[in-house]
Amino acid sequence: MKRVWNFNAGPSPMPLSVLEEIRDEMTDYKGCGMGIIEMSHRSKEFQALLDETKALLAELMELPKDRAIVFIQGGGSMQFVMEAYNFLHARAAYADTGVWAHKARDAAAFFGEAYDANSAKDRNYSYIPDRYDIRPGTDYLHITANNTIYGTEYWTFPDVDVPIVCDMSSDILSRRVDASRFALIWAGIQKNLGAAGTALAIIQKDFLETARTDVPAFLQYRTFVDKDSTYNTPAVFCIYTLNKMLHWVKNMGGVDAMEVRNKKKAALLYDTIDTSGGFYRGHAEKAHRSRMNVTFNLADAEKETDFIARAKAEGFVGVGGHRLVGGCRVSLYNAVTPEAAEAMADFMKEYQRIRG
Ligand SMILES: *Cc1c(COP(=O)(O)O)cnc(C)c1O
Repeated sequence: MKRVWNFNAGPSPMPLSVLEEIRDEMTDYKGCGMGIIEMSHRSKEFQALLDETKALLAELMELPKDRAIVFIQGGGSMQFVMEAYNFLHARAAYADTGVWAHKARDAAAFFGEAYDANSAKDRNYSYIPDRYDIRPGTDYLHITANNTIYGTEYWTFPDVDVPIVCDMSSDILSRRVDASRFALIWAGIQKNLGAAGTALAIIQKDFLETARTDVPAFLQYRTFVDKDSTYNTPAVFCIYTLNKMLHWVKNMGGVDAMEVRNKKKAALLYDTIDTSGGFYRGHAEKAHRSRMNVTFNLADAEKETDFIARAKAEGFVGVGGHRLVGGCRVSLYNAVTPEAAEAMADFMKEYQRIRG
């Protein structure tokens, strides 16, 4: 078996050991004589899996006691709708840091006033603004912890007087974060934590109390909390992969160990860019660089297609930038190994040596 160097932006690589464990258990989960995707979501085995998954997440993220964890189908895009449907009573503020922020704001506009509290548009979303214009009567501020497409990440979180909703889809569990600062954290799990098909949401109970009640049951966070994510059939397989990934993170040494590993990987690529004499140009301003998505261009734009094709031919997958912005993007989520980052950095140096 030959596994490629996988830098896909999402879905993205999983650790080989986790994949092998999933394979081995596929036909017989814990001696049940059937696989996890063949059994009832009301079985004691699945309930135990669900309980353990929530406990592991709470432990790894050091969540305050008053947070409820739920799993909701529909990915990040469903969360854009749900956060606004539940919590936007009058108006909500959105930090304009890129494509995902726009999608969040545009989904919210169906439910009330959704406005930009700032904007990084003036420098093509290469930084995270540090000022917030919060209007009176604002229900919450939405931020995107890591901007997957532009490659910027928050290194200090906003200090504002309204509840903060944080989209952590692309950097959850990649670093230590003070979860108590957020009224609602949610993340599609397919980047750092498992198979596509569910999002996890972490809700402060007092904030949940403020949610609208005139919302269809299936779109209320309250329903998922009250029914422990099993109001209807949850994404069993996704939750199972999440459970495996959380065990893996814990065995690797937890969030702090992930952070050390991710710093090292990102440094390998950013150093390559910074010492290339301008051959490679990083998109994000240095102080706002993402450790998860390294975005860059080749000074000679005409070489970009060739660079991406050469990379692919040598087994480096997923190096092309997002279709909306072009350029190059190397995603370095938790499961990406330091060896993979090193191989990519070596490839970039070699490419410059030959074509520079
Ligand atoms: C991928 C992503 C999303 C959307 O995820 P889907 O599950 O595809 O809807 C939302 N926000 C961020 C920051 C993302 O990276």
